[in-house]
Amino acid sequence: MILILLGPPGAGKGAQSSILEERHGIKQLSTGDMLRALVASGTPLGQEAKAVMDAGQLVSDELIGKMIAERVEEPDCANGFILDGFPRTVPQAEMLDRLLTDKGLSLHAVIELEVDEDGLVDRIVNRFSCAKCGALYNAKSKPPKVDGVCDACGSTEFTHRSDDNEETVRKRLAAYHAQTAPILPYYAERGVLQKVDGMASMEAVTEQIEAVLAKVGAK
Ligand code: AMP
Repeated sequence: MILILLGPPGAGKGAQSSILEERHGIKQLSTGDMLRALVASGTPLGQEAKAVMDAGQLVSDELIGKMIAERVEEPDCANGFILDGFPRTVPQAEMLDRLLTDKGLSLHAVIELEVDEDGLVDRIVNRFSCAKCGALYNAKSKPPKVDGVCDACGSTEFTHRSDDNEETVRKRLAAYHAQTAPILPYYAERGVLQKVDGMASMEAVTEQIEAVLAKVGAK
């Protein structure tokens, strides 16, 4: 099964992808996570990517294309994958089409998480994750059950993304509208775009996605 989750920053793509990964045994591929690993490597390419990310802009289609093309060759993608944060531009969507065609694969669904953008900035600036296992939290809506302790692994260290500040988030939202939203009609024309209400509870959004997967015969 090959899925794309689309939506603006903070729509819940990462959280839903990781639930689907667990439920269906298909790999979550987050280009944002891949880039953060590249930044952590401290290489000149990583430093270049960090500057672009901290400015709320998109890194080059060329770099992203190479990362994805290499990543889908890994054995853990053999059962399929969920693309989280990719494609983000029309050239990236075209590149993905070519890649899948070359591999004899096809997309099962492109799922758009529709959200009301008014609350997104607040949602994003309050989110953080466990430094050890990556479990996602939100200081307002989903704090750890025990203050300062990860529910999933017990770690007491947490991280907050450097691009999750108000100024950068507003630029990321602008980049979404200018560069990413045009891929919605691209997929609608191909008949693969499915919309779900991303403002519902986490569980309700997952159930809507499961209903889409059943409808398109992807499970
Ligand atoms: P995300 O974790 O998906 O919110 O991505 C964080 C940042 O990484 C974005 O604001 C972009 O700067 C960069 N990024 C992630 N995925 C892509 C992509 N597919 N194309 C270009 N830039 C990306």
